[in-house]
Amino acid sequence: MGRNRKNEIQRNLISACTIIPQKNITFLQAKAVSFHPEGDIEEVKPYVLSEYVVGEKKGTQEKVTYDYLINATGPKLNFEATDGLIPGSNKTYSVCTYGHADHAWHGLNELIQDMKKGKKAKILIGTGHAKATCQGAAFEYILNVEQELRKHKVRDMAEVTWISNEYQLGDFGMDGMLLSYGGMTMKSSEMVEMIFEDRDIKWILGAGVDKIEDGVAHYENLDGEYKTESYDFAMLIPAFSGHGFKAFDKDNQDITNKLFKGFMIVDADYTSKPYEEWSVQDWPETYQNPYYKNILHLVLLLLHHMPSQNRVKVKMAQTYHQHHHVPVCHLVSPQN
Ligand SMILES: Cc1cc2nc3c(=O)[nH]c(=O)nc-3n(C[C@H](O)[C@H](O)[C@H](O)COP(=O)(O)OP(=O)(O)OC[C@H]3O[C@@H](n4cnc5c(N)ncnc54)[C@H](O)[C@@H]3O)c2cc1C
Repeated sequence: MGRNRKNEIQRNLISACTIIPQKNITFLQAKAVSFHPEGDIEEVKPYVLSEYVVGEKKGTQEKVTYDYLINATGPKLNFEATDGLIPGSNKTYSVCTYGHADHAWHGLNELIQDMKKGKKAKILIGTGHAKATCQGAAFEYILNVEQELRKHKVRDMAEVTWISNEYQLGDFGMDGMLLSYGGMTMKSSEMVEMIFEDRDIKWILGAGVDKIEDGVAHYENLDGEYKTESYDFAMLIPAFSGHGFKAFDKDNQDITNKLFKGFMIVDADYTSKPYEEWSVQDWPETYQNPYYKNILHLVLLLLHHMPSQNRVKVKMAQTYHQHHHVPVCHLVSPQN
């Protein structure tokens, strides 16, 4: 919403850069390029081939050796998985990075100014892929946008719609929540419905968005119907994927399939099976790679155990477990 300024974020980064050396941690501002868990003919220790991204060494590659490796490179924002979903084109925006959020604010602000001049507008916010898994961010954003429209006194000029791959409102990718409030127990679906009703936000559920054209989102719903929704401004969360890293053994042979299946492989049960057959034992315990135990992978994604979306995905012949292979710090759903 244009509130946090880039220099504040940079200030935080700078303070992180000062703290890290005080803790006796070497900080290399470099990106991992490839993984070499056995070293190579010249380097006996396992290493990550890294490339500096700033400063004098920018572009220079270096073998960074390790005894233990914790890979926390997070998810790749996989906009390419949805045809036409490119932040800044087709009137779609993202809030997944600082740059995206800043850009989205400019897009929204322009529309607000148009609304002040009398233009009616349609705003669409939610998930931009059947497997997009960050409903919480979109939920937070739609409420912020709605509030911002009121602040600018243009709420009556906008139709605001939530589009989501969730099976129910308030699912958030974890089969919803039970909320205890003043001795009363409320389902998150009821809570979100109440909030949306109250704020006159429309909703479309069970929607796997698969194509974006200029101001038009195409989606398939759980009944197998292909539908469209038009908009003047959309913020749609993309699917997430692994970064596409490669791994090599000491003879420089490709062993990517030992380390990665999209995300890094850990001690989870990746067997493909219907959602009803999943159990808590399928989830990783140590987050170690089964072939190289000194490699651990951590992705912080709280909302990614998603029965309801699984229903969408079963319909679309896919499951999150099967395709993402991602270890998560998860909230276990009530079924487990
Ligand atoms: C708008 C928004 C709102 C959200 N709100 C919430 C919320 O309210 N609650 C919640 O729990 N979650 C929320 N999330 C999700 C949460 O931000 C993520 O789950 C979390 O940040 C993931 O943490 P991570 O450390 O695994 O990955 P990231 O935070 O993505 O960190 C990965 C890091 O690895 C770096 N990296 C990538 N590739 C390389 C490479 N090749 N070499 C070296 N480094 C690399 C990246 O630059 C990044 O710094 C939100 C997400 C978004 C987008």
